[in-house]
Amino acid sequence: MSEKLGNNIKGIKDKNRALILKLIAINKNISRVDISRLTGLSKMGISNIVSELIRENMIEEKESYTNGGTVSEENGYIFGRPPIMLSISEKSPCICGMLIKRGLCEVIISDISGKIYDKVVYKYENEITEKELYDILINAFFQIKNKTNKDIIAIGISSIGPVNSKAGIILNPPFFYNIENVEITKMMEEGTSIPTFLINDANAAALAEKLYGIGNNYNNFVYLHIMNGIGAGFILEGQLYGGEIGQSGEIGHTSINFSGPKCICGNTGCLELYANIERMNENISELRHIYSSSILNEDRKFTWIEIIDAANSNDYFAIHILDDFCKYISYALVDVLNMLDISCIITGYDSNLDGDILEKMLIRHVSSSILYSKYRNIDIIRSKFLGDAPLIGAVAFISDLIFNLNIKI
Ligand SMILES: [Zn+2]
Repeated sequence: MSEKLGNNIKGIKDKNRALILKLIAINKNISRVDISRLTGLSKMGISNIVSELIRENMIEEKESYTNGGTVSEENGYIFGRPPIMLSISEKSPCICGMLIKRGLCEVIISDISGKIYDKVVYKYENEITEKELYDILINAFFQIKNKTNKDIIAIGISSIGPVNSKAGIILNPPFFYNIENVEITKMMEEGTSIPTFLINDANAAALAEKLYGIGNNYNNFVYLHIMNGIGAGFILEGQLYGGEIGQSGEIGHTSINFSGPKCICGNTGCLELYANIERMNENISELRHIYSSSILNEDRKFTWIEIIDAANSNDYFAIHILDDFCKYISYALVDVLNMLDISCIITGYDSNLDGDILEKMLIRHVSSSILYSKYRNIDIIRSKFLGDAPLIGAVAFISDLIFNLNIKI
């Protein structure tokens, strides 16, 4: 009985410790008073855990002068002294985040608050083999680890899908040099002796937004991932919903036309057959004679970034082309929003310019078809990290495992 009670007390303390560490990591600077207000934990309990985390070099404290002037215990000020703010320590152990894409791998070392210490990028122009992919990742790991000289808690790999996240296997991503069934976590663990975890890129990006980006304010949202294909990551009740093998959110392979063409996935009329860069370029070449002053009025193929940047610069032709793309995406999005009763979408894609034209188009299309539209406000917001979200998500994935006590530190 007493042993059980002891276990329970230890379990509660571990949970409180993880919660306090999470609040410090995601808020960057936070006072003990703020932690007490947000958690309802006693000041004494917080003080004990904070002291322990400082002793272990996980966090550090410093006086903050940024808020200037106002003196109240409510704000963390105590009788005129600036508040003592807590943040993740420079000496804390770090996470290695890796992103596997077509054409390149990116590797970062970051602390659990998402602060990046270093980054390396390996491009591959030609086809690579499974062994070459492994060599790239292992070389990048040791290069960046030796340079930063940080202790590494775990490696998070964010990869193009499909993946079996739970088994740590990259399955058979289309157009990925015939690389398939790669037991990537096992290989990396053998090569580095560091625990390694795998997640698909859209799910990783959703976690990046949840922990370090604008998704922090939402308990439920869909991360819409527009890269070579279209994927999604679901944050439900504050947690990532990964699915049975970690491959949830395949919105690009939901059918929007049951009498449409056959897709490589075996289904017919998949969204990706209608919303893709090749189709955008076909539309451009067919219609460009109408828009003679458009910057897209050239006899060549355009990239996604060129089209989205032109649309955000108010190029009418680009806006027309992008609107067609958004119309198709909205068919699939409406199904998701209706089924899950979600009111927030965060969009992630590569872009050089600021602007929210894609989000405005999606809101217009979705609002005209969604159920109960009179009673729901749909927010569609551009990702804080844009094209970098899947890479930062590799770190967020490991942080999330730490905050949920699936990795002990
Ligand atoms: Zn398909």
